[in-house]
Amino acid sequence: MAAAPQHATDPATAAVLAGLDDLRPELEACYRDLHTHPELSGQEHRTAARAAERLREWGCTVHEGIGGTGVVGVLANGDGPTVLLRADLDALPVREDTGLPYASTATARDATGEQVPVMHACGHDVHVSCLLGAVGLLARARERWHGTLVALFQPAEETGAGADAMVADGLAARIPRPDVALAQHVLPAPAGSVGTRSGSFLSAADSLRITVYGRGGHGSAPQSAIDPVVMAAMIVVRLQTIVSRELAATQPAVLTVGSLRAGTTGNVIPESAEIQLNVRTYDEETRQRVLSAVRRIVQAECDASGATRAPTFEETSRFPPTVNDEQTTDRVAAAFAAHFGDRAGPAPLQTASEDFSQIPDAFGIPYTYWGIGGIDPRAFEEARRRGTVQQDVPTNHSARFAPVVQPTLDTGVSALVVAALCWLGGAGGDG
Ligand code: ZN
Ligand code: ZN
Repeated sequence: MAAAPQHATDPATAAVLAGLDDLRPELEACYRDLHTHPELSGQEHRTAARAAERLREWGCTVHEGIGGTGVVGVLANGDGPTVLLRADLDALPVREDTGLPYASTATARDATGEQVPVMHACGHDVHVSCLLGAVGLLARARERWHGTLVALFQPAEETGAGADAMVADGLAARIPRPDVALAQHVLPAPAGSVGTRSGSFLSAADSLRITVYGRGGHGSAPQSAIDPVVMAAMIVVRLQTIVSRELAATQPAVLTVGSLRAGTTGNVIPESAEIQLNVRTYDEETRQRVLSAVRRIVQAECDASGATRAPTFEETSRFPPTVNDEQTTDRVAAAFAAHFGDRAGPAPLQTASEDFSQIPDAFGIPYTYWGIGGIDPRAFEEARRRGTVQQDVPTNHSARFAPVVQPTLDTGVSALVVAALCWLGGAGGDG
């Protein structure tokens, strides 16, 4: 492939993006409003209604309530390919600590009924605003492209339930069949940058709740009890040998025990202990290998302790791996290089996970998913020079994660438009 000349945005794309100056104030206001009013997974009623309202204003046919609060806007503009662009709607149970004037003070009841603080700590408010911006620009410049734009706003990404819920609710029968699906995520990288990656990009994630059973008793008489606390402690340590001793150095995986609970006081041996863990892998073979090693180790440690009952394993969430289609990614990467110049480049492999791929997989269509930066470029560069990026740059899910409004929004809107026009633009062919 010939190297694309720097900043050689094609005329159709340039004409569509020319509307951004006009739209920018509205998009920035929309972003701040969404940031101030975050909603938990599956509860995104206000956010979904705002999105639907905008989509209608711009002439889309709007489908609401797909898989709960999912919204899809369809903008049909003559013959041509159909491109699906996806944004996620939900926020997290995190107490915001950014100090921003538009910071969230919202609280809500989570799925267990507990009152929790809510924050857009993963930047899904950026995604929603950027997708609305892209639809707005394409709606205003219909003479510059042809085909069908499908703007999909997905609920409950953080719990891994939303994409699946939309698919199970008949998504495929309710919207035009796309030829390609595209999505993006704001990441702790310099704002203004975009990063693409062919093949594996995001890991698969499996979360398990494991309960091991002993025999409770008096803390003074361990000989008449079977101690599940010791059993669980041995398991936690031994599980760390899976990645270090059972996988090749070239086979990336992460295993984290995030919760370990047993007993209520110091002088009582409890009946059981509960371990919650999370596994990240990039291919099915490694995934199976790690998950079966978890079961083997837990079972063996229970046997070693003389456990009275077999351990129980409960899957609490599951995310598929995100594996970007090579041809689709090359096409988008070339357009990004032409438009963004040296602000576009390759993105590193991420250990985060996404359920986005379940949507293209439901249609059997290729997809690519890319990253955009959200951190003040000067602050990022300073941290890089000091070697303190890990400590000083707040990541997604941090209470201090605060993407700068610009150039983050401009970049996210432009990236979606540039990528969509790879198929919908006059020169893009038929996908
Ligand atoms: Zn997240
Ligand atoms: Zn996210």
